[in-house]
Amino acid sequence: REDRSMTDTAMTDTAMTDTAMTDTATTDPDPALDANGIVQKLRATFATGVTRPAAWRREQLEGLYRLFVEGEEELVEALRLDLGRPRLEAFVGDIGHAKGELRYLAKHVERWMKPTKVKVPALAAPGRAAIQPEPLGVALVIAPWNYPIQLLLEPMAAALAAGNCVVGKPSELAPACSAAIVRLVPRYVDGDAVTIVEGGVAATTALLDERWDHIFFTGSTNVGRVVAEAAAKHLTPTTLELGGKSPCYVHSSADLGVAARRIVWGKFLNAGQTCIAPDYVLVDRAVRDDLVAELKDKVHDAFGADPARSDSYGRIVNERHLGRLRGLLDAEGSGAVVTGGPAPGGVAGGDRYLAPTVVVEPDPGGPLMSEEIFGPILPVLAVDGPQGAIDFVNARPKPLALYAFSGEDEPVDAVLAGTSSGGVCVNQTLMHLLPPELPFGGVGDSGDGAYHGKAGFDRFSHHKSVLRKPTRPDLKLLYPPYSKLAEKLVSKLLR
Ligand code: NAD
Repeated sequence: REDRSMTDTAMTDTAMTDTAMTDTATTDPDPALDANGIVQKLRATFATGVTRPAAWRREQLEGLYRLFVEGEEELVEALRLDLGRPRLEAFVGDIGHAKGELRYLAKHVERWMKPTKVKVPALAAPGRAAIQPEPLGVALVIAPWNYPIQLLLEPMAAALAAGNCVVGKPSELAPACSAAIVRLVPRYVDGDAVTIVEGGVAATTALLDERWDHIFFTGSTNVGRVVAEAAAKHLTPTTLELGGKSPCYVHSSADLGVAARRIVWGKFLNAGQTCIAPDYVLVDRAVRDDLVAELKDKVHDAFGADPARSDSYGRIVNERHLGRLRGLLDAEGSGAVVTGGPAPGGVAGGDRYLAPTVVVEPDPGGPLMSEEIFGPILPVLAVDGPQGAIDFVNARPKPLALYAFSGEDEPVDAVLAGTSSGGVCVNQTLMHLLPPELPFGGVGDSGDGAYHGKAGFDRFSHHKSVLRKPTRPDLKLLYPPYSKLAEKLVSKLLR
């Protein structure tokens, strides 16, 4: 109840800017949630050592995989209810991606658990040195609403693969998915080691008051700061998977038709509510109008004359976000609408529809270009070549993703060398998320730490350094009293 009142206050609080995506107001911890009891129970499980063997870890991963197989219909329906998500997008965005990750983790986890031998220098010889991964203990995973299943269960899977106990906190803004998760997860994993806690700010605040061995947070940069502050009190390590404005640069040598189709796909998937969606496009001035015409065409190809009727187009998560997005479009300096826009038919029948929208030349300092859009509005701005794009990107916080479309390598290499971003995808959008061996994460304001595949296992492990020495020979050289000979030898060895 307290959570709901918190959200309501946030919606009506005039002190908060209307356009701010996330309210970072803190609240008292939910008194009804026994966060400490949950942590203690999981600590007791961890202490038994049951989570350490490879067999237990694989069992949890295979259990979660079965959850996706047997619970598929429930999850597809929950995604439809929360986000109007088309079935195919439910697979691409949440179910299929998570299944791939679970298979990969289950296949490799035993090998990753093995110690890695390293060389022993002469002064420490004889001996055997190795890096031994060990689980951290009890982890907390906090998820956002936009890919509400994948972004909760994949980090939880990484925590389990690394032999930890884990608490998962789904987003209250995707209530159908949250309810499905709380129903399904206990059926497929060890209930002594895994707990799902539903709730919003008050519940999360209660959880954040506790001491954890790792906090894995996916969400906005603003709430990331709240999490980092709470973690700092206990010196708890964090992984922060945050947001920001991911730019997309289109060079004049690019195949504009292909670029436009791929940008439209990456931008309007899940109605633009994707952390790595291209937030805005920077295009070489000479081809700007051609690209804009292609973008307009490709929106039409994808969603027809009336995207509100398209089965391939999702909805905005709630009225508050719809209002925020309309506010961005209505704000001064939001550019000229090329396709879509708030009206006519911008908001249809209260079903939280916002048309796929392309705008040209918004004010670079205006609201549309100052905050993460996180919705189906694509601004296009002309720049003067790769250097113009580099300067534009570098004048803003480091983004989570950067896209570059080009027929030539040189402009791409220049943009990559001249900018910093969590990840990069060349001549496509979003797909750098797919290879399980590419760590996924941000840099600077877009986050800290990465996961997927071994990167996730590493994130939830401590890499313990172990040197094993025999008791013989026991050379006295290093021990006092020091001799001239020892001095000579040691200085030679440490040269
Ligand atoms: P959010 O930061 O509002 O919420 C994320 C989680 O934090 C939710 O579970 C929520 O209950 C909790 N929370 C919210 N306010 C809190 C507070 N004041 N104190 C404690 N907990 C709080 O994010 P969101 O709106 O759910 O998701 C959108 C954001 O997430 C965007 O910025 C997007 O870019 C980012 N995101 C990043 C990734 C990534 O992988 N880097 C993926 C998806 C989304």
